[in-house]
Amino acid sequence: MKTHVLGFPRIGARRELKKALEDYWAGSLSPQDLISVSNSLKERHWKIQKDSGLSYVATGDFSLYDHVLDTSVMLGAVPERYGAKASGIGPDTYFQMARGDVGGNIAAMEMTKWFNTNYHYLVPEISPAQRFSLSSPAIVKDTRRAIELGYLPKPVLVGPITYLSLAKGEGSFNVWERIEDITDVYAEVIAELSTLCDWIQIDEPVLCGDLAPEAPWRFLETYVKLNQAVGKAGLLLTTYFDSLDEHLDLALSSGCAGLHIDLTCGRNDPYDRIVERLPEDMSLSVGLVDGRNIWKTDMTKALSVLRDIEKRIGPDRLLIASSCSPMHSPVDLNLETKLKPEIRSWMAFAVQKCEEVCLLGDALSGKNRDETLRANAEVLESRLSSPLAKNEAIRERCAGISEDMLHRKSPYRERKKAQSWLDLPIFPTTTIGSFPQTPEIRKNRLLFKRGELSRDGYKFFIEKEIHKVVKIQEELGLDVLVHGEPERNDMVEYFGERMGGFCFTDNGWVQSYGSRCVKPPVIYGDVFRRAPMTVREFSFAQSLTSKPMKGMLTGPVTVLCWSFVRDDLDRSEVCRQIAFALRDEVLDLERSGAKIIQIDEPALREGLPLKGRDAEAYLRWAVEAFRITSSGVDDETQIHTHMCYSEFNAIIQSIAEMDADVISIESSRSRMELLDVFRVFEYPNEIGPGVYDIHSPRVPTEAEIMKLIQRAAEYIPKERLWINPDCGLKTRGWEETLKSLKNMVAAAKAMRIGH
Ligand code: GLN
Ligand code: ZN
Repeated sequence: MKTHVLGFPRIGARRELKKALEDYWAGSLSPQDLISVSNSLKERHWKIQKDSGLSYVATGDFSLYDHVLDTSVMLGAVPERYGAKASGIGPDTYFQMARGDVGGNIAAMEMTKWFNTNYHYLVPEISPAQRFSLSSPAIVKDTRRAIELGYLPKPVLVGPITYLSLAKGEGSFNVWERIEDITDVYAEVIAELSTLCDWIQIDEPVLCGDLAPEAPWRFLETYVKLNQAVGKAGLLLTTYFDSLDEHLDLALSSGCAGLHIDLTCGRNDPYDRIVERLPEDMSLSVGLVDGRNIWKTDMTKALSVLRDIEKRIGPDRLLIASSCSPMHSPVDLNLETKLKPEIRSWMAFAVQKCEEVCLLGDALSGKNRDETLRANAEVLESRLSSPLAKNEAIRERCAGISEDMLHRKSPYRERKKAQSWLDLPIFPTTTIGSFPQTPEIRKNRLLFKRGELSRDGYKFFIEKEIHKVVKIQEELGLDVLVHGEPERNDMVEYFGERMGGFCFTDNGWVQSYGSRCVKPPVIYGDVFRRAPMTVREFSFAQSLTSKPMKGMLTGPVTVLCWSFVRDDLDRSEVCRQIAFALRDEVLDLERSGAKIIQIDEPALREGLPLKGRDAEAYLRWAVEAFRITSSGVDDETQIHTHMCYSEFNAIIQSIAEMDADVISIESSRSRMELLDVFRVFEYPNEIGPGVYDIHSPRVPTEAEIMKLIQRAAEYIPKERLWINPDCGLKTRGWEETLKSLKNMVAAAKAMRIGH
């Protein structure tokens, strides 16, 4: 049997790619040097795969920015505005597509999340007139290079059905009309690759989700052609992030030489069903090492599954693999020196995951790896019984949840009356929470972290910042103030650092998009609050003003979604624990005089499972977690929530069930059209649709903002409208922030005339 991983993180164990890219963009690294950094990363990653003992190394999975963008480039699918000839897409065009060109006023391609991960890809743009042709097939070059270096390559492509499913057409153009043209280019590259390798991995994760109506028959048609092109090599159709379920038949009838399934997630579609129906000439690649988490695989369990499958299909048709590309996991656990040794012993990053896949292969083929297997079993057992992972008091509290914990005391209508003591004007103005995080703030935080600034010194600095933003907001004439969040490095990390059950890595970086990486906190144990987390800053801020100051928290679903979550407890249970910890914080804020408390849930929608039919279960526990957090307060206390996006169609019901008194959302770019969902649904509570885009430094005029407010009032009764920007202001500069907010307040005041 053979072993492989579906890809490897590109960014480098020490984020070498990030640094190289940023130097290149700043003009301090030459194109040749950028290429040589990326070549050495590719070679290093191949070596890691080979040295761990894997049969193949993945090629073509590396990317300077994004592998979906690379696929567009490979197909010659370069939108017209970049003015490039398909034959010559150089680094300038490539990065223009990725990042836009401010000077030349050329917009970047749109970016969005890759399935239900935190990775972002660039959305392919397909037009009726686009000419596709194979251009700069880096994958062929890389595959040849890997052979030269003595590796057995397995090139990795984003499959055409997934590619088109993620693409957008111009206007109402149906992108599927171009499938045949795209297939021709795929066939060409597959034919070329097939002379170089045994397997070509073709990723079709879209098969694990809901498919467009035309996708199934397009899939079959396309794969007939691709399998004709593949010659003596085999296509390995890879599916991941969920089980195949109703698309299993489709996958089995693809005619591909191999099928990869992800057995780490989804409903664990009984693999029996797949094995039973696997065509005799189809190999099965089984993903049992999770490519998206940081935890060790349970080898005993994995081996028993593999032994069972092997018994039925024989070793020759079996491949052992990671579930998906470990690009969603950090690179190397060996760089972590500060973790508690016990917790560290539970973990495996990408490098270790390669070793795990190999270990499974060795054990299955009868090599003596008993000692390593025994060590694995011991670690897993110790984790199960570790007091670090389990806290009875927390378990009991969560189990003791009662119906009244999930409900505010009165319905919204009555709360609205009770909240009249806030004495707010019509069209009340506020901001989303953060104010510009200046280099000075960052510098002071760093000094404090390094121990070069005392606790008192840092506290004094933070209070000075809070003082500054409170004064500014009063001068601007905003109605509901915020403290500005200067003490927060990141909206999840800040809370993770203050709760039990979390730990932090030094180098656990994962690519989010391009050169941007995130270092998610790790939830390894039961979550609890050690002490109040935000009360001090809130109280200080409120003491400076007679206007209401918002208490400001990150919600439980967002904390969950933006962390690495333990795999020994259901996500819904982990979320509930976070919710209880935050509930205490909400009550402490209320006791300290907060009249308004905002609980941000920007990640609510991204936690949605791949399949529409699983959405309901997720939304049920996600909404419940929000309600646990928010429902303990009195009617007089106003609860706000905030979400950073503008697509609410699929979740409007759940948004209403969250029952926040006020929700602020992003909406300026959709010119308020998204409010139609709220109108149709007759959303009963208050809404603050963002009236200006904070993603750009552009200052909106007063007239422009007034127009947006008027439009908003066509959808939502004006008594229920709030006026605020789209999102927090932390990435903005002070200059544009002041001007924009001044215009925003002026617009709201102008709208009040006559009311
Ligand atoms: N309160 C946060 C801020 O203003 C909200 C950010 C977010 O939702 N992403 O920065
Ligand atoms: Zn936001």
